[in-house]
Amino acid sequence: MGLSLHRTSAIVLRNYNLGETDRITVFLSARYGKVSGVSRRARKLASPFAGRLEPLSEVDLVYFLREGKTLARVNHVDLIHSFQALREDLSRLGPALKMSELMDRFTREGEATPLLYGLLARSLRALEGEVDGIALLVPFVLNLLALTGYEPQLGQCVHCSKTLPGDAPSFSPLLGGILCSGCAPLAPDRLEISPPVLAALRCGLRAEPGSPVGLPGPSAAVQSCLEVLERYIQTRMGRAISLRPFFDLPRFA
Ligand SMILES: [Zn+2]
Repeated sequence: MGLSLHRTSAIVLRNYNLGETDRITVFLSARYGKVSGVSRRARKLASPFAGRLEPLSEVDLVYFLREGKTLARVNHVDLIHSFQALREDLSRLGPALKMSELMDRFTREGEATPLLYGLLARSLRALEGEVDGIALLVPFVLNLLALTGYEPQLGQCVHCSKTLPGDAPSFSPLLGGILCSGCAPLAPDRLEISPPVLAALRCGLRAEPGSPVGLPGPSAAVQSCLEVLERYIQTRMGRAISLRPFFDLPRFA
């Protein structure tokens, strides 16, 4: 069976321990999609991997993969960007880890996903800037949904196709989009969404991946966007998922 050498930039999604001294790292790579690799003796103090496999780190990764196998052997790792600034600020670390977790859950090993890699890398860089981390989560999630085939319909009524400008319709997670007032009663799972929430969702979907967008409306609208998206993902994908970052963030006005 052949053993092939791969080289790619990659972002560390998570680590877990293997045996006494080894570590398995799950990467999102630019060229090969999600990759899980064993780093031998990575947990020894003198390991050449020390400090290079922290979650969120962007690295230049070299690994071997045996034909027919999914677990790679990490050969060499060089740090490209540590994203240390994100680890030092809880209001950024929460959204950053949430982006990383979502990327992990929306990808599988063996599928090349260069657009998803670009989305995560650009979103993490934008988070380093002076932006509202929670507001950045909304375009991140909407872009992630669009790139993985789950884009919600936000322009027209998902049932009768009537174009809806900006008035307050409903959103049906089950039907996957907004509903006009005439069709809304057809969807028992509908959520009422206010014009600022619809405007913020539309803005997030149009936003360049990772660009620090100023979502319109008050920050309460951003929180509502995350709640709508959370219900949508749970319904459409059958996965319980939380879009709330881990840390207690400043209250929304
Ligand atoms: Zn309709």
